Amino acid sequence: MTINLPMPRIPGASSKLKDIPAGGSKRVLLAAPRGYCAGVDRAVIAVEKALERYGAPVYVRKQIVHNIHVVTELEVKGAIFVDEVDEVPEGAHIVFSAHGVSPAVVDAASARGLQAIDATCPLVTKVHKEAVRFAKNDYEILLIGHDGHEEVEGTAGEAPDHVTLIGSPAEADTVEVRDPDKVVWLSQTTLSVDETMQTVDRLRARFPNLQDPPSDDICYATQNRQVAVKKVAVDADLVIVVGSANSSNSVRLVEVALENGARAAHRIDYAYELKQEWFDGVRTVGVTSGASVPDVLVNEVLAALAEAGYADVEPVTTAEEDLVFSLPKELRTQANGDRDDRALGGRARR
Ligand code: SF4
Repeated sequence: MTINLPMPRIPGASSKLKDIPAGGSKRVLLAAPRGYCAGVDRAVIAVEKALERYGAPVYVRKQIVHNIHVVTELEVKGAIFVDEVDEVPEGAHIVFSAHGVSPAVVDAASARGLQAIDATCPLVTKVHKEAVRFAKNDYEILLIGHDGHEEVEGTAGEAPDHVTLIGSPAEADTVEVRDPDKVVWLSQTTLSVDETMQTVDRLRARFPNLQDPPSDDICYATQNRQVAVKKVAVDADLVIVVGSANSSNSVRLVEVALENGARAAHRIDYAYELKQEWFDGVRTVGVTSGASVPDVLVNEVLAALAEAGYADVEPVTTAEEDLVFSLPKELRTQANGDRDDRALGGRARR
């Protein structure tokens, strides 16, 4: 069964926002970094390249990245999104999403004779490798993450007998472990940094020898977007986060904005979802976007805000990003033998 997608953008639909007097000058604070991260860029280009090389359809397990606009555009080009590999015709090409898959999924695809292209973000793969290594050394792994999220399923699937999911700070107070001296915490890559550290503190209060991951599991893109939205939120009456409802890092940006001074914060997929009543008395609007959001969607929001009198846009930049990942190995070698591991050009595609 193919995935049921929410309603895509209505072509030409625009916000119905009207200019509202706000008792003074109005402005937008535009957070940077925002939008596409290196892992999303790579995954989207991987599907496009697979379509170019093998022709449509190319199957994709789950949404390649959690953004309705990106998924809809790839569907138009010939991608078919499925929930599981048994929905894919034997021998067809299948792309694994940026969120990663468990070894059981890889095995199922192989048993079906599928040609798999692994677009798992390398920073997710890093967490998988940590899980494998700690499990090999017989550690109990407390995986902080959201139950049911594809990334968590993939990571847990690397060592199912060693992983216990910690879904909230409160669960840290009740989890039981086999040996409190042989416990490590790992995490989903797209969590709130602050909330995760609260969970870790609560775990460490109970298990003082709790081991940390060798390096941050919450990825650079998630962290950078949270730092930027914090700076914006301090001065914003309202923060608009562009991103889809199933995008963990986008949802976290709303929470982080509210926890750091924004009077209100809302997540939208498209500009036409902006609501007039959000803007009563609002002089400063913060704008940011999740790591799977192309900038075209943010530009449409800025255009709608400009029509409502928020035409003065000030960038608030807290970091520069230049990380680029090479294509999945299955796509690096052309059929004619030419190498194709060019730097990904996603930023130009925004
Ligand atoms: S949000 Fe982080 S882990 Fe997820 S795809 Fe982007 S860089 Fe990779």
